[in-house]
Amino acid sequence: MFLRKVLSLRHTLAFRLTFWYAGVSAISSFAAFLVCYFLTASVIHGSMDQQILNEIPEYSSLLSLKGMETLKTSLMLEAASEGVENTFFRVLTQNGEELFSSNMSSWGNLGIGRSALERLRNGANHVFETLTVPEKRYKVRILYGIIGPDKILQIGESLEDNERLLGVFRRIFGATMVVLMALGGFIGWFMARRALVGVEEVTETAIDISKGAFKRRVSVKDRSAEIKKLATTFNVMLDQIDILVTGMREMTDNIAHDLRSPITRIRGITEMTLTTGKSMDEYKTMGTSTIEECDRLLKMVNTMLEISGAEAGVSQLTMENTDMARVVREACELFQPSAEEKGVAIISEISESSFVYGDIQKIQRMVANLLDNALKYTPSGGTITASVNTNKGQVVVFVNDTGIGISQDEVPNIFRRFYRCDQSRSQAGIGLGLSLALAIARAHGGDITATSHPGKGSQFVVTLPQSSLPR
Ligand code: ADP
Repeated sequence: MFLRKVLSLRHTLAFRLTFWYAGVSAISSFAAFLVCYFLTASVIHGSMDQQILNEIPEYSSLLSLKGMETLKTSLMLEAASEGVENTFFRVLTQNGEELFSSNMSSWGNLGIGRSALERLRNGANHVFETLTVPEKRYKVRILYGIIGPDKILQIGESLEDNERLLGVFRRIFGATMVVLMALGGFIGWFMARRALVGVEEVTETAIDISKGAFKRRVSVKDRSAEIKKLATTFNVMLDQIDILVTGMREMTDNIAHDLRSPITRIRGITEMTLTTGKSMDEYKTMGTSTIEECDRLLKMVNTMLEISGAEAGVSQLTMENTDMARVVREACELFQPSAEEKGVAIISEISESSFVYGDIQKIQRMVANLLDNALKYTPSGGTITASVNTNKGQVVVFVNDTGIGISQDEVPNIFRRFYRCDQSRSQAGIGLGLSLALAIARAHGGDITATSHPGKGSQFVVTLPQSSLPR
């Protein structure tokens, strides 16, 4: 179980980031070490070579000034003072015959480099070579230099000190690299965890929401810009889903509630007529009522489909240049007879044409719904005034009435589906007219607002983007 958990870690982003972080820091410190190591080694070897090389002219002048015996003594003393296991000297002829050597007991059967002698014979001043002495742990640096006619001095220096120094350097670096890698891994893990903590919170929130905590949101505080953006977008998306879900829930509740009443009425009428009805007239009345209720149901379902279609933007809109002045004037004319019958005056204050680009039938429906409400909720003796203006690229339609008005608490709700104010329940209606009007206005890039004073009247204002003439 634990092993599986550990193994599954390698698929995580945090692990990969850590791995890359530690890997990159290890590779870069290793590269830095290689550069330092080779630079140090070359400086150490270079200074040693220079030191040995400086001895050739010294012994050359000693030979020419003081002769072979003095040279021998001087070389013996030098070898003894340096330590015969660290240094040796040999004087050779150009053919490689040994004329003299210091104590060679520590140097085994160290041969003479034939190729080095060959190069000296061919004109080289000096030749360096590095050899491995079978009996010794460390290599030896050897210099051949001409110190006189047919006299070659071979100097050997053990590289023990240099190699020890570089060995210490390698060990220190190895230890430092282990520490650096561990530190790199730790810092990488820490940083990856810190960077991803916001992402984890988003995941946890999504899990909580899938378990039913729909109101849960991701905290946006103390986050990096990218995570803040992710969290904000995620929260906005959740809010949208919440609105949609609440809307759908409201709609299904409303459907259940508002469809139940007509269906119950149909059932009640039918049952009563079947049990008590005796005459043909009673059956005719039952039929008429059933048709009326069915029409009401059909109207409700069709209007709801229209609203959903307009809100979701899937309604087929037949777009054309539409003169709002004409639409409002014609609508007023259409309602005139009913208004006269009710004793309500309809005044249209429309001067010039104002065009919008839209679906004329839908727009007519929207205006008709507003006028229908104004007429419905304005008692006899009242007045309805409809006007059309243009303002800052918008066509504005006002529908004012002197009717019963809407209380301030209820104004924000009147555009909700199936919402009906208490005082208007005596009037026929299904509470979908304003929802549809608003959905149509929004589908055309516009809006509807309402202001009202109970007992004095209401004002509905439609704004739609003005169209440039004519398309
Ligand atoms: P309804 O079919 O009930 O008229 P609407 O969606 O058209 O449904 O209107 C919702 C509610 O808003 C109405 O029931 C009514 O209470 C209120 N309302 C709408 N227009 C007016 C108005 N002009 N005057 C007073 N109340 C209104």
